[in-house]
Amino acid sequence: MADKTLFQKIADREIPAEIVYEDDLCLCFRDINPQAPVHLLLVPRKPVPRIAEATPEDQELLGHLFSRVRLIAEQEGFATAGFRTVVNNGPHGGEEVPHLHIHLLAGRQMTWPPG
Ligand code: 5GP
Repeated sequence: MADKTLFQKIADREIPAEIVYEDDLCLCFRDINPQAPVHLLLVPRKPVPRIAEATPEDQELLGHLFSRVRLIAEQEGFATAGFRTVVNNGPHGGEEVPHLHIHLLAGRQMTWPPG
């Protein structure tokens, strides 16, 4: 069996994190190095490495993740003011952790283009 990813260890409570939401398919916790006043990571329990490696069988899971964005944004109080979602993929995308995750950034005005 492959070694657990960092985010699987967080899901299994082997590494501490401030979890704000979880269900059977995913969990959401605060980023350890926040890039905005609110910086959350929404992560599937299944260790899909990155969006470019999601398969047709992951379609429902991907839909589930994005459907949770609204719920978490409302729960955490930034749905109305707005927020940014980011999915980094591979070296040029700035991906550091090879376990699919959606960044939820909120609490300040975002700029464009991203760095
Ligand atoms: P990526 O660069 O792969 O898109 O994002 C990985 C994110 O995971 C980074 O924003 C980084 O700060 C966060 N991160 C890395 N290690 C940990 C950790 O141990 N705990 C938490 N909560 N976040 C982490």
